[in-house]
Amino acid sequence: MTERKTSAARKRIEKLRGLFIEQLPQRFEKINQARLSLQNNPDEKEALTNLHRAVHSLKGTGLSFGFKELGKTAGKIEDLLSLCLTGTTAESVLELIPRIDDLLRELKQNITAITPAGADLPERVANPPDLSPDSVEEDVDSRAKLLYLCDDDQFIGEQLAVQLKCFGYQIVRFSELKQLSRAMSKKMPAALIMDINFPEGHYAGTELVNSMRQKFERHFPVVFISNNNDFETRLAAVKAGGSEYFTKPVNIQELVEAIDRLTERNLPEPYQILIVDDDPTVAEYNSIILQEAGMVTRCVFESTGILNVLEEFRADLVLMDMYMPRCSGYELAKLIRQIHKYAAMPIIYLSSETDKQKQLSAMRIGAEAFLSKPVDPDELIALVEIKAERMRLLQKMMVRDSMTGLYNHTTTNQLLESAIAGSLRHKAFEVCFVMIDIDLFKRVNDTYGHPLGDQVIVALARVLKQRLRGSDVVGRYGGEEFSLILQDVDLEKAAEIVDGLRKDFARLRFYTESGEFSCTFSAGIAALSKYDNFETLREAADQALYRAKQNGRNQINVA
Ligand code: GH3
Ligand code: MG
Ligand code: MG
Repeated sequence: MTERKTSAARKRIEKLRGLFIEQLPQRFEKINQARLSLQNNPDEKEALTNLHRAVHSLKGTGLSFGFKELGKTAGKIEDLLSLCLTGTTAESVLELIPRIDDLLRELKQNITAITPAGADLPERVANPPDLSPDSVEEDVDSRAKLLYLCDDDQFIGEQLAVQLKCFGYQIVRFSELKQLSRAMSKKMPAALIMDINFPEGHYAGTELVNSMRQKFERHFPVVFISNNNDFETRLAAVKAGGSEYFTKPVNIQELVEAIDRLTERNLPEPYQILIVDDDPTVAEYNSIILQEAGMVTRCVFESTGILNVLEEFRADLVLMDMYMPRCSGYELAKLIRQIHKYAAMPIIYLSSETDKQKQLSAMRIGAEAFLSKPVDPDELIALVEIKAERMRLLQKMMVRDSMTGLYNHTTTNQLLESAIAGSLRHKAFEVCFVMIDIDLFKRVNDTYGHPLGDQVIVALARVLKQRLRGSDVVGRYGGEEFSLILQDVDLEKAAEIVDGLRKDFARLRFYTESGEFSCTFSAGIAALSKYDNFETLREAADQALYRAKQNGRNQINVA
């Protein structure tokens, strides 16, 4: 976390705290109203519940912002009301009212002590504070990462460049050291692939890298490729900060794997946290704390809206308030978990409830944990991270194919169904479903062995993943069968994309001890606009694939 970001978060919390202080008189007024209504309807549970909720919320938020006295007084009122609510006192509501009033007077004093003198502030800010992030993260296109490749052997350079392009990298080739040097000072690549032996000298490649490391402040990953396999050359490469070393002929799969690793911004996707709290101030407060830790949050203030939000915001975890107007946190948790796909959703309660018994019964419904307000920000962040991480892991095991990391069959089908539902709802965008099958794959296994067959599958998975947009779905449908869900492109464009993938894949060379070879695939494509449901769409793509095979393989067929 940069200092700038931390202080920005602190500023936003300060702002929020200011708003809370400003709204204190109104909050007090609301409590007062509830107290009046209780006096008029002493037998109504609703009046009692309303007052209870109002002081409970004031206690929680007050403590969160560090107002201990205020929190303590509100807590005392809450305790009295709890006695009535649970029927654990012989005193009637009316008998309790004088004591409540005493405490309310105390509360009023607490509030006056906090709010600035002269409650009539000259400029009263009616609008909520501006909580939008203070800067938008730079938008880097991570799909086509830039690689520099420097080799005086033009043939090798060209060959590697062609193959790397098939994996979705953008390559600029240099055959002279001077050119490379000039380009580096203009723009840094995501990684540099560097030969060592040049006309300028035996170690000219490592020497240039060394001098560039001193010249440029920014670190750049380097992969050395060389004809030499001796200790001295390898040592020179290590001393020049080379991350990897490959001897020629370079195994392209291994090279790509290394470059993937080196250039991947290894930041995991930020956790997505849904915050449910009827008090916007508390929700925003927790939201800021979690955002400061790099998470993405969404706040829901009314429990009724939660199903829609869950549908469109892929939450890793729900942070839930206990007391809310329409339904309690317990009820809401139960409601969420009764929906099959959210059965495993981690839920953390956040409340000023200190009653252990109640906490336990909340946990029984399936809450992962219970945090009492005021919560320590570090504790909140740590707990949310642990639970969300576990959820991610579980999700991954259920959703992904372990060999390729692509979506598995079941998940691909689910994603197709929801893409279809989305498209039908908005009637705006097209959904194309693509079935891909590697040609004569059995022969690959028979000739080069099963492990090599696996390598081909992984390579195709990588081509598909690297070349498609983040919004496209890539699944491993079966052994050597893959499927794609392309959204918002028409059939013609989809065919063009898939044909491009086909050509790229056919260009890859696989190296084995018993020789080199390449592979092809066939594909069938169908568009939702012609087949209006899941079954017919899938069947149409399957039929098209069958025709592509019939017509001689290594081609696409459109349904
Ligand atoms: P076609 O062009 O008609 O698709 O011919 P094909 O040989 O690819 O088709 P077939 O369905 O007859 O054979 C597919 C082979 O793929 C059989 C199976 O052993 C192999 N296979 C399936 N899954 C895997 C896997 O995970 N790894 C490896 N190495 N082979 C696999
Ligand atoms: Mg097959
Ligand atoms: Mg096949």
